[in-house]
Amino acid sequence: MASAPPEKMIFQLTLRRRGISDQAVLRTLEDVPRENFVEPADRADAYRDSAMAISCGQTISQPFVVAYMTEQLKLRKTHRVLEIGTGSGYQAAILSRLAGQVLTVERFRTLADIARQRLEKLGCFNVEVMLGDGLAMPPAVGQFDRIIVTAAVDRIPDALLERLELNGILIAPVGPPHGVQTLVRVIRTAGGLERKELVDVRFVPAIPGIAREL
Ligand code: SAH
Repeated sequence: MASAPPEKMIFQLTLRRRGISDQAVLRTLEDVPRENFVEPADRADAYRDSAMAISCGQTISQPFVVAYMTEQLKLRKTHRVLEIGTGSGYQAAILSRLAGQVLTVERFRTLADIARQRLEKLGCFNVEVMLGDGLAMPPAVGQFDRIIVTAAVDRIPDALLERLELNGILIAPVGPPHGVQTLVRVIRTAGGLERKELVDVRFVPAIPGIAREL
């Protein structure tokens, strides 16, 4: 077996040192080529633990945050997952390997189109990329076992909570649009919604409506 390049070893060590312990999550971050999801100029730095700028003024999330959110979702191959904020498509590729079906929604057509191509190229055939407003998901999209919001919201929209199955888990960065947010996990139990605050994060804001720019 060929040995992993050193930058990928450091990448794994960083994730472990920061507290990621789920082996399936670690393996998936090792396997999915992050260099396919960053801008060409950033390829050499793809395994640095930092967020990076992508088209349309958006960002690809920091790998630690991707790993942490994925770990919190406790994914199974039977799960139907909804992601709000496709961005580069990197988080969707990670979800694709650990879940059954993934629907990812993006408000910029350019980002949705590029992400769709990347995901197809990687063989992530269980992911559907949809151009739309993730803050206003219609009941027609159905119910999800897991929902992951990757843009900052000031509160979790009811339209998303209503899409969460019984025993389902939703995770979202909640807080001011241009500051520090708190990752919030909501579990739908028979008794109602259980809410827990996890860690501080910084995400680009969720903006209502489909983008008028490309
Ligand atoms: N998960 C992405 C990073 C997300 S950045 C990745 O792995 O690369 C946040 C993304 O959310 C941006 O692309 C932004 O355009 C998108 N977004 C913001 N508001 C949205 C909305 N209402 N509906 C859908 N996507 C939205």
